[in-house]
Amino acid sequence: MSKPCILCCAITGSLPTKENNPAVPISISEQVESSHEAVEAGASIIHAHVRNEDATPSSDPEKFARLKEGLEKHCPGVIIQFSTGGRSGAGQARGGMLPLRPDMASLSVGSNNFPTRVYENPPDLVDWLASEMVKYEITPEVEAFDLSHILQAIRMHEEGRLYGKLYVQFVMGVKNAMPADKQVFDFYARIMAERAPGAEWCAAGIGPNQVVVNEWAIAAGGHTRAGLEDNVRLDRDTLAPSNAALIRRAADLCEKYGRPVATPAQAREILGLRPAGA
Ligand SMILES: [Zn+2]
Repeated sequence: MSKPCILCCAITGSLPTKENNPAVPISISEQVESSHEAVEAGASIIHAHVRNEDATPSSDPEKFARLKEGLEKHCPGVIIQFSTGGRSGAGQARGGMLPLRPDMASLSVGSNNFPTRVYENPPDLVDWLASEMVKYEITPEVEAFDLSHILQAIRMHEEGRLYGKLYVQFVMGVKNAMPADKQVFDFYARIMAERAPGAEWCAAGIGPNQVVVNEWAIAAGGHTRAGLEDNVRLDRDTLAPSNAALIRRAADLCEKYGRPVATPAQAREILGLRPAGA
């Protein structure tokens, strides 16, 4: 049997609003309900940002705590991954929720351009976030927006600065950063296999690239991410009705390539995470 594929659902993000797609979950209760449907469709990791009531991004640990509580109650066993991304807060506020000990947290290890600004990840902040994750036993999912981020993650892991098993997410198709380019994708996968053979990787594409990168990752034996954070449409003319619909589309691709969809328990084993609730 080929390796189960971990499907991560990026449910909300910090940018999309209900004007973009009414299915984007904003309140904590909407997030929990949308996650529940996505888990039923095959998601084993929930990647989450939180929002204020006016839908602007927030880094309030109290909101993250309520989300964690809701997910533990309604999606038992699912892997909870909080974003420490830079749109929700500045400086150390980005890691203010880490004492809640989610299973995982996203971690950017270098800087790059975003559509309208610089995505700043200065070395001292990266080191602080990584050390907080070590302190609270949180496995980072390294968000690689460029090749240098992959190599930096491998180096940091070798030096013992990243907790747990190395897990790298290739993010492709962000405007002004690395496009969704198949040759680059193949090179990323080869670099991971050759230089970090014990690691796992996943890949995410932005907008119309989501389904393209989902298919590349599933075919290449990696894991993948879908959800309304990265893409609010099924195709040019159709809004995605839910996070679950985007996860279902990735699960269908797993079937096409003979990859079983990982259960949360299998995903925990593949990523070397502690059992749920431990
Ligand atoms: Zn995110």
